[in-house]
Amino acid sequence: IRILGIETSCDETSAAVIENGNTIRSNVISSQIESHKRFGGVVPEVASRHHVENITLIIDQALREANLTLDDIDAIAVTYGPGLVGALLVGVAAAKAISFARGIPLVGVHHIAGHIYANRFVKELEFPLLALVVSGGHTELVYMKEHGAYEIIGQTRDDAVGEAYDKVARSLGLPYPGGPHIDQLAHEGEPSIPLPRAWLEGTYDFSFSGLKSAVLNTLHNAAQRGESIEPKNLAASFQESVIEVLVDKTFRLINERPVKQLLLAGGVAANKGLRRALSERAAREGVELIIPPLSLCTDNAAMIAGAGYIEYKKGNLASMTLNGVPGLPLA
Ligand code: ATP
Ligand code: MG
Ligand code: FE
Repeated sequence: IRILGIETSCDETSAAVIENGNTIRSNVISSQIESHKRFGGVVPEVASRHHVENITLIIDQALREANLTLDDIDAIAVTYGPGLVGALLVGVAAAKAISFARGIPLVGVHHIAGHIYANRFVKELEFPLLALVVSGGHTELVYMKEHGAYEIIGQTRDDAVGEAYDKVARSLGLPYPGGPHIDQLAHEGEPSIPLPRAWLEGTYDFSFSGLKSAVLNTLHNAAQRGESIEPKNLAASFQESVIEVLVDKTFRLINERPVKQLLLAGGVAANKGLRRALSERAAREGVELIIPPLSLCTDNAAMIAGAGYIEYKKGNLASMTLNGVPGLPLA
């Protein structure tokens, strides 16, 4: 079975072809970062226009790189939420057009389900499992008893982890998106600056806006006193605080609700410090940890096709009324 995946929820235009659920034949990703950089973040109108200009070219390229044509495709999987509505609509419209014109079944995929299923390209999933989702817009502990069943046990009450990384990076004058730059700096520095950890005891929820503000205050106060702060040490301190809370709460939950696997998902899964800290802790506690390869951490259509494959097998097909849903819930 071959699935064509389409992803346009934010600022990546992506199309992919996967075979039998876990073999990637192609995964073409066109990033718009250069267009959004000068604004310091994603501008929705600009994103939509780029998607419109690129979508057919990217789909053609994905088929070409897979050495296939639409005749070889069994189903089309498309992200229909959450995300920017104008951006989502471009992918959904393209998927519906191909589905209608060629009589190919259509599957609607939740973007975060896609991030979680990126792990299935590494290894078959075993349930129950826990997914730590850390991305630009989400920070969630998702418990799954079976394919396609998502229970959100904890989530951020304010900023997502990726959002906090990008804002901290911006305050240090680093380019957008700042996550990878902070990761690199943190690697070079020492966590010598005291910063808070929001534990939100008694819950599995997270909060990162206080930490972000503490970083901004540290910079501001130092500037007022005419002192200088080493950006690398601030980055290392920030990253240490984030990772300590994420890893600790994840394993507290696993101790309460044992799982067969722990999955890491979302753009921040690319973070070197987080990957290492989770790996060490999982090894120590005897928990099987799956982490996607770097190429499948940030937004891509292969992960959407991967989640779509499961829905397709279940017979969960979408109709021509499928629409983009900006605030689509996972559970
Ligand atoms: P969502 O998936 O919640 O809808 P999104 O699709 O915009 O949001 P992703 O593409 O999943 O976000 O992830 C992008 C985020 O990941 C950005 O905030 C980026 O800074 C962050 N990121 C990428 N690499 C790293 C890294 N090495 N360390 C920390 N953050 C990173
Ligand atoms: Mg993006
Ligand atoms: Fe994403």
